[in-house]
Amino acid sequence: MEHQLKNILYCPVCKAKEKEKHLLVVDHNVSNDVFTITKCCKCGFLFTNPIPTKETIGNYYKSNNYISHSGTKKGLINYIYHFVRNYQLFKKERLISNLSNEKTLLDIGCGTGEFLSYCKNKGWNTVGTEPDLQTRERIKNLTIFPGLNSKELRENSFSIVTMWHVLEHVYDLEDDLKTISSLIKKGGYLIVAVPNHESFDAKIYKENWVAYDVPIHLYHFRKKDIKALFSKFNFELSNIKPLIFDAYYISLLSEKKKGGNFILGLLNGLKSNLKAKNKLNHSSLIYILKKL
Ligand SMILES: [Zn+2]
Repeated sequence: MEHQLKNILYCPVCKAKEKEKHLLVVDHNVSNDVFTITKCCKCGFLFTNPIPTKETIGNYYKSNNYISHSGTKKGLINYIYHFVRNYQLFKKERLISNLSNEKTLLDIGCGTGEFLSYCKNKGWNTVGTEPDLQTRERIKNLTIFPGLNSKELRENSFSIVTMWHVLEHVYDLEDDLKTISSLIKKGGYLIVAVPNHESFDAKIYKENWVAYDVPIHLYHFRKKDIKALFSKFNFELSNIKPLIFDAYYISLLSEKKKGGNFILGLLNGLKSNLKAKNKLNHSSLIYILKKL
């Protein structure tokens, strides 16, 4: 694929300029190009650098394997993914119900809107954003905007905002986090689910860990990065919860990427969850951030 790249000059978390090369990762989904993950010398944050320009990054999403938008049920891994997703819808709605009596929900990067539909059926007032036009056109009976700058999204109007595996894709991080913070009522919550490269599966698969997912994953968060980043936007980290199925899903796909075997993938998923328990170092984590 033709390269049109943009250099990231400052650490997206602490703004330091000094950085070093950390890991080279191949994009096996679309381009087969190699991308560099850079480490901030000051705070240790990992970010993809350089990244495709805003105009060209859309090309890297054009993969047949990009399940979250495809809705197909081909193959065992996809089948399990869809089965687990239904269970996770139940868990996710229960999580936000326990946080808020007022049921006003914005789901950012809502894909085909499964989570919003599920919550709407449970009595939530729902709004979503989804940048991809084709995906948006497939959504029925839901209010969806292309992005956060829609005038119909009003300040201080949501008790809950969710970003399920979305933050790592956000191109204009600072601008969007400012906007997101302004949309949430005081005392409301932002729920952020992202991969965790301090997990066992990340450590054993290294450059084959599919949750690095370059170049569409721009940032690679640890717990301390989330805490530092969101404190700048008027949020306090109130809780962290694991997404236990991600360890299996990510390990299976990482095994596949390196040409390994299915059983080993399952075992590494199990190991990752067992080793994660005490330190909350699961393959993916859900951060519950309270708007101050
Ligand atoms: Zn930094």
